[in-house]
Amino acid sequence: MCRHVGYLGEPIAPAEVLLDAPHSLLVQSYAPADMRCGATMNADGFGLGWYPGDGAEPVRYRQPCPLWTDTNVASFGRAISTGALVAAVRSATVGMPVVETACAPFVDGRWLFSHNGVITGWPHSVAEIAAELPAVDLLTMEAPTDSALLWALLRRRLHAGEAPEAAMSVVVQAVAGAAPESRLNLLLTDGTMMYATTWAHSLSVLHREDAVVVSSEPLDDRPEWQRVDDGQLLIASKDEVRTHPLSPTRGFR
Ligand code: GLN
Repeated sequence: MCRHVGYLGEPIAPAEVLLDAPHSLLVQSYAPADMRCGATMNADGFGLGWYPGDGAEPVRYRQPCPLWTDTNVASFGRAISTGALVAAVRSATVGMPVVETACAPFVDGRWLFSHNGVITGWPHSVAEIAAELPAVDLLTMEAPTDSALLWALLRRRLHAGEAPEAAMSVVVQAVAGAAPESRLNLLLTDGTMMYATTWAHSLSVLHREDAVVVSSEPLDDRPEWQRVDDGQLLIASKDEVRTHPLSPTRGFR
């Protein structure tokens, strides 16, 4: 299962999260603490999306190789600074391609999106849900993967003007209904607000005075990291973090 991180706050160099923290995404790529479904490493690619400032849309860098083999992040990741980012390392689900376009974050205008998990029974389990999308949305999916479909479903709702928290909640519950025992930890930001779901996978949050960090695994051993319960929708800004149950009737763990 992939690992992802979202950051909102005072500007930092992305390398702090990707490479320099004691349990950075780099460490989580070769020695993750909480893998599930039999996966052991996140070596099938990585990605970083960040907001360059002054209201500009996010910039993205992805590679379909292990983060530890990359020769660029260590230099440019320390040279830039950003107040908002999403980064991920990928462990491809069996049968899904190892290509750059399958790596999170997915991007659309101001939005950055990542998925940590798997849709069980792919692709048949969600064929009916996918069929509700316009053909153009399906034809422009970046990769034939569960994560890209989740992004297509969510993006459609965001384009229609639905509130991000409602769109996240509906997509998770529709997919979980069609494909029980899926793992659906989603992460979405527009650079100002961050939205994350926990659905059968780990997530922790650190809210400090100058920033909020949401991460599949804590980036260090600070006691302020809080584990987010399963089945939650987290909504965060720099100043506030809230969580709500996604569904009171949910039975699967
Ligand atoms: N199932 C997705 C993929 O293969 C997400 C990756 C993960 O969380 N393992 O791309």
